[in-house]
Amino acid sequence: MGDTDAAATADCLFCRIVAGDIPGDIVHVTERTVAFRDVNPQAPTHVLVVPREHYPNAAALAAGDPQASAELLSTAAAVAAAEGHDDYRLVFNTGPSSGQTVFHTHLHLLAGRSMTWPPG
Ligand code: AMP
Repeated sequence: MGDTDAAATADCLFCRIVAGDIPGDIVHVTERTVAFRDVNPQAPTHVLVVPREHYPNAAALAAGDPQASAELLSTAAAVAAAEGHDDYRLVFNTGPSSGQTVFHTHLHLLAGRSMTWPPG
């Protein structure tokens, strides 16, 4: 189970987008996931795929709801295909030093430009 405690999720930005309390530019929904455009896009296509339930990071989601973890990946692939991208990058930032700023699991889908490696 995700953390459905009201106190834990009331202040969560992505819980509020999933609930419809804050507008999001939603591009795809499934039973367990919602995909919406990043407000500060880092590529021509930059979509965030989140589980409907609150988990703080990808590892917690994998432990708590493996099916939702799989659905994040299949949703990202569906969005990439719908937007015409064969090539794309998927990223889970985990922890502040990795760059995570929103502590509700989200998979970044980035596509539409050439990318370099390693990431910064
Ligand atoms: P991360 O830094 O990996 O935690 O990613 C959080 C992402 O959420 C960043 O890329 C932000 O640009 C994005 N973001 C923040 N607020 C919103 C919002 N209201 N709607 C969509 N994306 C957002």
